[in-house]
Amino acid sequence: MRRKLIAANWKMYKTPDDARTFVREFKPLIAGHDRDDVALFPPFISIPAALEAVAGTQIEVGAQNMHWEKQGAFTGEVSADMLKCVGCKQVIIGHSERRQYFGETDIGVNRKLRGALADGLKSIVCVGELFEERESGLTEGVLRRQVGAALREISGDDVDKFCIAYEPVWAIGTGRTATPEIAAKAHVFIRGEAAKAIGNDAARNLRIIYGGSVKPENAHALMSQEEIDGALVGGASLDPTSFASIVKW
Ligand code: PEP
Repeated sequence: MRRKLIAANWKMYKTPDDARTFVREFKPLIAGHDRDDVALFPPFISIPAALEAVAGTQIEVGAQNMHWEKQGAFTGEVSADMLKCVGCKQVIIGHSERRQYFGETDIGVNRKLRGALADGLKSIVCVGELFEERESGLTEGVLRRQVGAALREISGDDVDKFCIAYEPVWAIGTGRTATPEIAAKAHVFIRGEAAKAIGNDAARNLRIIYGGSVKPENAHALMSQEEIDGALVGGASLDPTSFASIVKW
């Protein structure tokens, strides 16, 4: 049985003070709800504040990006090693906004995943098709390419250290959610592609979470799908009450 992961991607929102306030309000709302794993992904600058605020709870804190090298002349970048040093347990890799606005490539995503694994950071690797790609019947081809590239030279032994987030780009921040059926179908396809890279047994244990306009109103229908192993939540994770009701789906 795969344990679900409910993750909050705060994108470029929340100062350290905002992060503290969020956690202070969020903690009592989810007290006793330990059915699923819960993780917060603040901007780099707010990570220490979030870590301090979640101390003593099961909530994990991660980063939204990393560089694959340990250190070096890479202005503006932060390594997995550095994230671990401050107490981060997880990192998001290859989010569509990074692919779209910052030129992140399939090869870069694979390098980052390998870097994160080497440094003991758990990862959420994002994949997903654009609206035009879905409309043109290219969804499976895109997912095959992205999953195949991301998992190149990744061992099935590491399957508990990363998960894949299926995030159809047309559903991110648009209010258009994939139906539970569309999402589940894509997850089955992704699992099949992952099996080619890491083997059937490992692929069975791989968590595949869904992201794209998850809200309190649709969380239950999505999370009830056997194939959906959790959620990566953007907009609706910024408010503690809204994110708490998603956690309690
Ligand atoms: C995301 O940022 O990964 C995301 C899914 O955003 P939203 O929930 O706002 O669509």
